[in-house]
Amino acid sequence: MSYSKYLKDTNLIAGVWTGADSGKTIDVTNPATGDVIGTVPACGAAETERAITAASDAFPAFATMPLMERLDLLWKLHDALMDNRDTLGELLTVEQGKPLFEAKGEIAIGAGYIRWFAEEARRAKGEIVPAPGNGRRIVVTKHPVGVVGMITPWNFPSSMLARKIGPALAVGCTVVAKPATATPYSGLAWGALCEEAGFPKGVVNILTGSARDIGGAIMADARVRKVTFTGSTEVGKELIRQSADTVKKVSMELGGNAPFLVFDDADLDKAVQGAIVSKFRNAGQTCVCANRIYVQAGIHDAFVEKLKTEVAKMKVGNGLDEDVEQGPMIDMDAVEKVEEFIADAKSKGGTIALGGGRHGNGQSFFEPTIVTGATQAMKFAKEEIFGPLAPVFKFEHDKDAIAMANDTDFGLCSYAYTRDLGRVWRLNEQLQYGMIGINSGLITTVEAPFGGVKESGLGKEGGSQGLEDYMDTKYTAMDF
Ligand code: ADP
Repeated sequence: MSYSKYLKDTNLIAGVWTGADSGKTIDVTNPATGDVIGTVPACGAAETERAITAASDAFPAFATMPLMERLDLLWKLHDALMDNRDTLGELLTVEQGKPLFEAKGEIAIGAGYIRWFAEEARRAKGEIVPAPGNGRRIVVTKHPVGVVGMITPWNFPSSMLARKIGPALAVGCTVVAKPATATPYSGLAWGALCEEAGFPKGVVNILTGSARDIGGAIMADARVRKVTFTGSTEVGKELIRQSADTVKKVSMELGGNAPFLVFDDADLDKAVQGAIVSKFRNAGQTCVCANRIYVQAGIHDAFVEKLKTEVAKMKVGNGLDEDVEQGPMIDMDAVEKVEEFIADAKSKGGTIALGGGRHGNGQSFFEPTIVTGATQAMKFAKEEIFGPLAPVFKFEHDKDAIAMANDTDFGLCSYAYTRDLGRVWRLNEQLQYGMIGINSGLITTVEAPFGGVKESGLGKEGGSQGLEDYMDTKYTAMDF
């Protein structure tokens, strides 16, 4: 296979590719076929501690490397990604399942983050603030936080690391990363790519194995000054608690429960396309996927008809096959969770308008599904679906839609389709979300601060804010 170059069956610790101390390994399977693609080391606390030592030892020299030398390494990293985009995309599809065009897109977005942060680091300015009296200067400077621990999920196994590795390396931090066990190869590939780019040994360390052991060692070690996590709210809360003992900085990208509002004056075709992109991308397994589609009464039936027609055309299959738009779900647990949501909705009066069951392809393939007659009493009104199930709710008035949209502990992303500018501003002010897509179902971009409010997280990824989160602010009072 062409991707074998990046199929690393060892971990990168202190610049050396190595197995677990115990010699134990974990199988990695292709969710589309059930085939074992390879194994990765089952590392634990001892290996993690060595990786932290390596990162800590590498930090002083890396942090003080001339800026343009360090940023040249980031540009080389960007080029290494783009030169190997097809190979890395294939590897991603094979371990994660998403269609190849989405996987290659993810690699390109990852490269985009590296480029963005390489550019942005040149503008990591401090400031000199006017002092209240003469004889003093107030100087504010920015400094890399130090060793950064990174824990990432399986749904975007490459780009979730890009958003963290990019800003960390750009400002001179060193890295200990743990990719998700289901999709470790795209994470380990970052180690190989950083080596190719020429980063000094110990700057980037990547470990696979028990989340609790590796995560526990990262969280307990005082040398790790920041932890950045993308994953469930449940685990995020635990990590925030664990971070207290050593008072680490934390960035948390946690769960979402995105409302997708369609008002009577919306462009119907655009709204349907946006709903499909937002809902069914990555088989519904993104934290910004539309979780609840609220449609105003006047446009409701036309929207549902068109959505059904378009979603019915979607081709489900192995992501490596031509024209496939929806791959398998990550595993059978994910399938069962979607089935529970459907059973709950049916028992409370919901109607299956399309799909509703496992797909004929077997494995963890699931039919793109639409449920109409959804209500706030149904489970998906409160919980993240993380699957190809689109619940459609009907509403009459703006205030009801906004109240329902905000009726959740989450606050990551929201969407609204309307042509009324006054309404757009009201939504901007009233939707309790870190991100709002107006007439767009796909808004993630390197230039913008991605991140949530409420229980969806802390901190931002992307934008200038995404760099800030990897720096400490130092104030020096200079009297003379
Ligand atoms: P997901 O449902 O996306 O897998 P999780 O929060 O369970 O979300 O996992 C996201 C990442 O966090 C994975 O890399 C996983 O291995 C890791 N993880 C899970 N539990 C813990 C934990 N207790 N401590 C540290 N990391 C964890």
